[in-house]
Formats: sequence, structure tokens, C-alpha cells
Amino acid sequence: MSKAVKARAREKVDLLIVNADELVTLAGDNQKPRTGKQMREIGIIRNGGLAVKDGRIVAVGKTPDVTKSFKAENVVSANGKIVLPGFVDPHTHLVFAGSREDEFQMHVEGASYMEILKAGGGILRTVRDTRKASLEKLVDYGTETLDTMIEHGTTTVEAKSGYGLTTKDELKMLQAIQRLNQLHSVDVVPTFLGAHAIPPEFSNDPQGYARLVVEEMIPKAAEKGLAEFCDVFCERGVFSLEQARRILLAGKDSGLKPRLHADEMSSLGGAELAASIGAISADHMLFSSDEGIKAMADKGVVATLLPAAAFSLMNARYADARIMINFGVPVALGTDFNPNCWVENQQLIIAFACHFMRLAPAEAITATTINAAHAIGRAKEIGSLEVDKKADIIVLDVPNHKFLGYRFGVNLVDKVVKNGRIVVDREASRGEFRLLEEQKT
Ligand SMILES: [Zn+2]
Repeated sequence: MSKAVKARAREKVDLLIVNADELVTLAGDNQKPRTGKQMREIGIIRNGGLAVKDGRIVAVGKTPDVTKSFKAENVVSANGKIVLPGFVDPHTHLVFAGSREDEFQMHVEGASYMEILKAGGGILRTVRDTRKASLEKLVDYGTETLDTMIEHGTTTVEAKSGYGLTTKDELKMLQAIQRLNQLHSVDVVPTFLGAHAIPPEFSNDPQGYARLVVEEMIPKAAEKGLAEFCDVFCERGVFSLEQARRILLAGKDSGLKPRLHADEMSSLGGAELAASIGAISADHMLFSSDEGIKAMADKGVVATLLPAAAFSLMNARYADARIMINFGVPVALGTDFNPNCWVENQQLIIAFACHFMRLAPAEAITATTINAAHAIGRAKEIGSLEVDKKADIIVLDVPNHKFLGYRFGVNLVDKVVKNGRIVVDREASRGEFRLLEEQKT
């Protein structure tokens, strides 16, 4: 019998990615988010390859091992490049109307976030604009944002309501988020954040507003299946620790998993609350106490850190990620995309995390992939390149993973594969502006 006949026929798949200088798999025991030293273990395969069929990963390994068993018409060479799981952005305020660039100018000239808020600007301005906007308009704006996010390698995002602050407008925002999840290839995970700010109608009755959130908004959002998580902006002058606890418990009763904005501008005990209430994630954590951080480590609560939000506050303080990692808290990273922190790009967040919070590139990669997936309850499906997981894959045009954070302010994405399909191909578009010699003359 000839050798060719003896060899087992290669299985045909939809897509092969081969010859990656580094295939960053994040493979391993991914039951729990990564902590401590595990955050640096990113599962690199040199000369890596993978096979994709029906939107799923069917093989991962060294290129010769993958191509021995699989063939495809669509073969992407990642020679000189690296391959990673698509970025997961676990904290965004994806949907809103309007913009606040004039306040940015005030802020640059010295006004604080709280001063702008007290002057009726800040979030309340976005609330006014968002209330006026139709559902369709919100979907249009959100679509543009998701386009930019996926062009920068983000394939799943969490998205919060919180600029409606009436039952009707909060539901409108959640419906926009639901529509975006249906209409866009980026997966969008919905969070109810009715307790984002006290609306002007309730400025003299914050308790009354907290009651409305608990008694009307949460049951309606849950009953319509429009939210998976319940979030609260727990902050001095916004929602107190006690109100936050009540709201998050009410959410839990309705089946919404708790998460919260904790200790962003003051040390209020948000980290302790996150641990005691069984939150999946506590976010920001610029002023969290050591006790709170330890309590989170004990309970396995993810710290979702948002260095771009700290950057846009302009007070040069960042969450102490090194202490958190030392204490065994799993760290994730998100953009906190919102009208006060207008950034869609997780690559820039990695750069901020490396520069301002001293994360190693490998730790920042873990924090934007598998740990970010854990922070939104999606780690079984996404966040690593492993057989049976969703084929959400990015090819970056750098020779190794240490370029993340090191080369910043530009888009390193070469290709994005979402659900097994190439949806971004920047290499192909480069042909358009690289002129042939005869075109120049
Ligand atoms: Zn936020």
C-alpha cells in the first residue's frame, strides 16, 4: 500500500490559522479566573496553528500537527505575527446619546468631575440627551461604537444602562443593548445600572429614587429578560453603601447577578460590599482598603480595573493592581467606554495598565481575555483558544506578546475572526494605499 493511501484523510475545516510566531492560548484550568503568578502563564505555542469549523475551535497546537490532521481552503498565515483570543471588554457604558467635549475642556482647565456634576453637567447632561434619543438612534450610535471596538480586536463587551434613570428610559437603553447584540457580530452582555446617578427629579429624595429602582425598575428589567447583571454606582454623594446593598440584593432576588462600581473616588467600603454580597466583580477600586481587597481574594471576586477612567479623572491615581495580584485577587481590565472616557480600544488599556499600574504584558493580556470573560460570566465560551470554544480570534501584527503595551497608540490588529468568520482584514486593505511604482509617476 502506498504511503499516501495509508495516511488518514485530513478533515476539511472552514479556516486554518498557521505559522503564528506566538499563539497565545490562555489554555489551562479555566474554571476560575487566574490569580497571582498564573496571570503570567498565557500558554504560548511557538509556530502555532489552529483549526476552525462551524464557528468553533476544533484544534490548537504546533502548525505541523494541526495541518497534519486538517485542511481548509481558507488558510491565514500568521508568520511574523501573534494570535490571541479576541479581547473581552467587561465594563462599558456602550449606549448613550450626545458628547461632552466642552466639559473635557473645563476639566483640562481644572474643574473636577464632581464640580461639573454639581453644575448640572457630567452624567446628567448625557441623561438629558439619552432620554431625548429614540431607541433607533441609540442603536445607531452603539453600532458605530461596536464597529470601532471590533476593529481594535474586541469581540465581546459588557454594556450597561444608566443614562435613562426613569423606568421607561432605562428599559429603552436595555432594549437598545439587546438589539445591538442581535444586530452586531460583537456579543453584548447586558447590565442594568438604574442606580448610576440620582436624576434631577429626585435630587431632594434620593431614597425615593433608590426605592423606584428596587420596586419598579429591577422587576421590570428582569421580567423582560433584558439584563443579566445588576450594577450600582456606589460612591459618596451618589449611592451609599446601604443603598447599594439593598439594590444589589433586590437584583439578586430577581435573578440579576451583582457587580458594582466600587471605591472609585473615595474609600467607601465597596470592595467589602462586593465580597459580602457575592458580586462577580468590583470595578474601579482606586481607593479600596487592604481589608476589602483581602475579602475579595477570599471570595474570588474579580477586580475589574479601568485605568482609562482614572486617566480621564486626571488625578494621577490608579488602582493598586500589584497589591491586588499579591493578595490573590483575579484582575480584569476594561475600557469603561462612556462619554467621559471615550475609548474603545483594549490595546490602549493594556498600555495604560503596564505603564500606570505596572502590569506585565502577559498579566494585562490575561486581564483582557480569560479574566475579563470570567468577570462577565462567559469563561466557558470565550477568553482562551481551546478546542470547543467560540472561534473569536485576533491576529496582531507584532512578533511577540511583549509588544502589547510597549507599542501603543496605534491599532496592532491585522485580522479579527468572530464566530469563525474573518470580519476585519487590515492586511487586505493595505493594498489600497501601498502604491505601485507606476501609479506614482
Ligand atoms: Zn462605569
